[in-house]
Amino acid sequence: MITQESKNELTGEAIVRSVAFCSETAAIVLLSGGQDSTTCLFWALRKFEHVEAVCFNYGQKHSAEIEAARTIAQGANVPFRLLDAGLIAELSVNALTSPAVAMDKEQAGNTPPNTFVPGRNLLFLTLAAIVAREKRIFHLVTGVSQADYSGYPDCRDTFIRSLNVTLNLAMDEQFVIHTPLMQRNKKEVWQLADELGVFDLVQKETITCYNGIRGNGCGECPACKLRRKGMEEYETELFN
Ligand SMILES: [Zn+2]
Repeated sequence: MITQESKNELTGEAIVRSVAFCSETAAIVLLSGGQDSTTCLFWALRKFEHVEAVCFNYGQKHSAEIEAARTIAQGANVPFRLLDAGLIAELSVNALTSPAVAMDKEQAGNTPPNTFVPGRNLLFLTLAAIVAREKRIFHLVTGVSQADYSGYPDCRDTFIRSLNVTLNLAMDEQFVIHTPLMQRNKKEVWQLADELGVFDLVQKETITCYNGIRGNGCGECPACKLRRKGMEEYETELFN
């Protein structure tokens, strides 16, 4: 049977690739340009010999996020690929992709916030897995967390585990989805960035703000509030 690997060998591609990395030591990070995925990028750089980043253009209101991701990847000397997932913006109405929808100031009840983009992580991880498989890379890294559960069902550990099984069945491969932040709250994400030596970079270069403002952001949106609260808690712990 000719496997994908042997097929690649026939074309000589695999030889070039194997010099650079083998699949066990390579990973693809889903990089959005925010605090969490950026911290994951540097976590992956410690854990894997070869790291690449994929970023998605999904019609988000603030394309500055994409430029932040690109700049961060370039600074880390990590290959960066921007994938067009613009269809997502056409499929649902939400505050991240629909210009007419203002963001909820506070989360409403038990429903996901209106910044929830249905299917986003499902599609992003699926697309990233396809890209990874073509490169014979099977480690995927994503910055989702359920610790500060904000009502996003696709940030939960049970969803990620389920999708991991599904991807393996869908492509008959053994992907491993890494979620280094899954059980970390925002304070612990800052702590991890500090341990990785990128606290300042994460603070200054990333965009977490729903209003698309780099660094400490607008200070008013739920993402800014969560980020700042975590930073204050970390700094309090550090200096006391
Ligand atoms: Zn903000």
